[in-house]
Amino acid sequence: MAETTTKILTRKPSEIIRKQFRINGIVQGVGFRPFIYNLANKFNLTGTVSNSSEGVIIEAQGTSANVHNFINVIQTDAPPLSMISALETNDIPNKDETSFIIKTSEKSSTISTMISPDVAVCDDCLDELFNPKDRRFLYPFINCTNCGPRYTIIENIPYDRPFTSMRHFELCTNCQEEYDDPNNRRFHAQPNACPDCGPKVQLHDGGGKPVRSDNPIRDTVELIKQGRIAAIKGLGGFHLAVDATNSEAVKTLRKRKGREEKPLAIMVKSMEDAKSICHINRDEANELRSIQSPIVLLKKREDIPIANDIAPGNDRIGIMLPYTPLHHLLFYDDAPSLVMTSANLSEEPICIENNEAVNRLLNIADIFLVHNRKILTRTDDSVLMFHNKKRSFLRRSRGFVPMPIQLPFSVPSVLALGAFLKNTICVTRGNQAFLSQHIGDLDNALACHFFDETIKYVLDIHQVKPQAVIHDYHPDFYSTKATERFTLPAIQVQHHHAHLAATMAEHHIKGPVLGLALDGFGLSEKNETWGGEILLVDDTSYRRLGHFYPLPHLGGDSASHQSWRMGAAVLHSIGKENRIQSFFPSIPNIDKIMELLSTPNLFSFTTGCGRWFDAAAAILGISTVQKYEGQAPILLESLVTKPEILEKGWKIENNILDFRPLMEYLLNCDPVSGANIFHGTLAAGLADWVKRVGLEHGIKTVISGGGCFHNKVLVELLDGHVRKIGFHSYFPEQVPPGDGGISLGQAWVGALKLMEQS
Ligand code: ZN
Ligand code: ZN
Ligand code: FE
Repeated sequence: MAETTTKILTRKPSEIIRKQFRINGIVQGVGFRPFIYNLANKFNLTGTVSNSSEGVIIEAQGTSANVHNFINVIQTDAPPLSMISALETNDIPNKDETSFIIKTSEKSSTISTMISPDVAVCDDCLDELFNPKDRRFLYPFINCTNCGPRYTIIENIPYDRPFTSMRHFELCTNCQEEYDDPNNRRFHAQPNACPDCGPKVQLHDGGGKPVRSDNPIRDTVELIKQGRIAAIKGLGGFHLAVDATNSEAVKTLRKRKGREEKPLAIMVKSMEDAKSICHINRDEANELRSIQSPIVLLKKREDIPIANDIAPGNDRIGIMLPYTPLHHLLFYDDAPSLVMTSANLSEEPICIENNEAVNRLLNIADIFLVHNRKILTRTDDSVLMFHNKKRSFLRRSRGFVPMPIQLPFSVPSVLALGAFLKNTICVTRGNQAFLSQHIGDLDNALACHFFDETIKYVLDIHQVKPQAVIHDYHPDFYSTKATERFTLPAIQVQHHHAHLAATMAEHHIKGPVLGLALDGFGLSEKNETWGGEILLVDDTSYRRLGHFYPLPHLGGDSASHQSWRMGAAVLHSIGKENRIQSFFPSIPNIDKIMELLSTPNLFSFTTGCGRWFDAAAAILGISTVQKYEGQAPILLESLVTKPEILEKGWKIENNILDFRPLMEYLLNCDPVSGANIFHGTLAAGLADWVKRVGLEHGIKTVISGGGCFHNKVLVELLDGHVRKIGFHSYFPEQVPPGDGGISLGQAWVGALKLMEQS
């Protein structure tokens, strides 16, 4: 770009020139062309602007000085939702013309543009929504160039109405005028609509039959207030909504959905309402109000005005604010605080189609509030929290996808397939990595189907032809097996290497570094069960420098649900088998467990850090059987009031970190002091371990990855300790630390391996 500027400046400022600019990034569906149009007029330029699959293409003709200023302002004043990642300039011959026009889109074969995520309704639109004189007064699909659906309504690129699900709605004269008027804030707003020409809501009964209603939204609110369960079609899928202040309704929802204890998110009317339920700091408040409008996990207050069993045993609750006009209208019609949970059965993907919703939610929802704007891509709500004032994702989805993660340099295109739980996939294109939306646990047919669909969709819309597929070592994961369907080289990346590489990729860190992987479960090259490791990570390779003391992995995978098994494993490993029965009296077939433990070649071992959390929760009587993934650690963390360090609570020999002394101490603790001592000692022991191994290898940079880093107490304590000893520490910020972010690390390692080979 510097070159361009110089070239322009060498001309006489008054000389008439014509330039072509090719702009890439998020420049479609974000008001970019109207912005260019207005700017061109301001600088008296003639020419054209068009959307193409290669980005926005501008031809601008005018005085050299004006063209120069024009391109400068494009870069400094671009619309809020846009992101310019590349700008290419060419001199072209002058033309005989008198005006600047917006050309209709053309489709071409190479595509390198980006698509905007969905955006929460903006303040200008809200003002109109609640203005009785406005023609869109109370219209649930109001939107403009700065807000509304994007990713979820796109069928193909370029992002233009004929390639979105809005193509089924013909613009009325008024809307068309707005769309064509460069001075209108809906100029080229692709989802533009009004009550005359746009989508409409409708109320259906529990069997999916239309119900006559003059005001479907108000009627839905009335039914919710009566304790009914409503399936409400939203931006990226259906939500199941119930009155969050009605314990009975919440109980019924849990029962019908098969979600016994897993926390439910709520949507509240306003920030004040959110503050009456949770403690909210400035970062959290900004995040709640952001254009991404995610669910933010917040610290619960005492005596809150909502049902108790929304997040049982959890000291945090997931809250979001209304983000579509339809949500705002629910509260305008006096909706109470609402449980708003993805509409699905158990862990299946979220429903998006009206018929699909009726079929799949028949036994869950009492009513359906639907509309006729098609959702083309399932996208769940994003969920995040703050660790040390930094974002930490639990789920990166609506509002963030498909924004790329910027890589430090361009790499070959690859497709990474993720792991098993909380699956996402990732493709690389140039110096960008596109992580898919949350797909879910690949343990049911619908999720596997969604996984297949997502691969196709992500490759299509980003126009990526991968050179390799990257996968986990675990042979039984659906994602690993999917590799066989591609006629491409397959590259396997060890689970924890991938976790750590994800953190390195987003922070642009080059190895060798120390990688602290604290996770539940992942297979090593030699089929061992890892999850509490220090790896020396050198980009495409790693070496295991240390690990947690291995515990018996009683019952393999079932140990992660039945945390008492890890409790028993710990009792065995500290020579207290005789207390297993008294600690876990209600466990069936205890004799079998005792027999198993006395025959060491009958069980394998695990070094998973997550399993020590399970064991501690079991021993402290907090959780012996987990109803959802990570429940025991979450309940344990929720009890922490003031972490304490147990001196000599750990031993380190040959770089093996052993917390058995801590566990022995916990045998005589009550749950709260146990939770405090467990967290305090774990963090101190980990820091000690990192320091010793780091000094031994002369490395002072430590990167983190793995599901245990969802634990806020652990992250904040550990970060403090590690900084105190003068080490640099990096945590995942742009993708989830757990398996939801692993595809980024797989993609990064895979792409770097391809570069090494070439
Ligand atoms: Zn708007
Ligand atoms: Zn209209
Ligand atoms: Fe993992």
